[in-house]
Amino acid sequence: MSGPEPGDVIAVWFSNGAASAVAAYQTLQRYGNLCDVRIINNPVLEEDEDNLRFGRDVATWLGQPIISHNSPVYPTASAVDVWDKRGAMVFPRGAPCTVHLKKEARQDYERQHKVDWHVLGFTADEAGRHARFVLTERSNVLPILIEAGLTKADCAALLQANGIALPRVYAEGYPNANCIGCVKATSPTYWNLVRRTRPETFDARAEQSRRLGARLVRYRGKRIYLDELPEDAVGRSLKTMTVECGIFCEEKGVFG
Ligand code: SF4
Repeated sequence: MSGPEPGDVIAVWFSNGAASAVAAYQTLQRYGNLCDVRIINNPVLEEDEDNLRFGRDVATWLGQPIISHNSPVYPTASAVDVWDKRGAMVFPRGAPCTVHLKKEARQDYERQHKVDWHVLGFTADEAGRHARFVLTERSNVLPILIEAGLTKADCAALLQANGIALPRVYAEGYPNANCIGCVKATSPTYWNLVRRTRPETFDARAEQSRRLGARLVRYRGKRIYLDELPEDAVGRSLKTMTVECGIFCEEKGVFG
């Protein structure tokens, strides 16, 4: 597949994370004079409010607005609403919130707008994820960060060098800037971090998951309800959690 041509539309899918912010920057550097580069975010209400500040800072840095596009079926863009409507929080091979609020939102944008190329925040250490996405989702993806040899750590450093504070959830110990209380997480370490830093979110997830019969956490080899999780339970380090929600969210992406 040859590269972008003059006038092509390049959609950069910005997830409020460091990597996709730098992917947008690199895309504008490489193709901004040649193509119509659009930076698009599929919002999810359950993300931390500081993500919005981060998005505004990134837009200022890039000198370009970030387009917000959500699925018309879920105008609230709320994962909590998706779970209630679907009567489920997580499936064996994914989560309904990812499907409706990310994947279908992106597909809805594609139905309304011609997109010649996609850019995602796959970093140099994620060539496998990029390859999988190209194979299963879209073949017209530009591996911007991979070609530039930029890792997640490089992206974070580049933003900080440009005076852009990362979303505050990273400093709180979260492995990504996705929703707080992500239903794909099964790790006791993760859920106890949520309980410590956002007790009201923990309680809300515990209530809803009990009501919908979703055993979200894995403890001692067994799936249990959040309200059964001991407060001192720990699992693997959150640094090993690599799955992020987004349009490239792996179908089987349950991280633990
Ligand atoms: S981050 Fe987690 S909870 Fe939020 S939409 Fe994605 S899969 Fe759902």
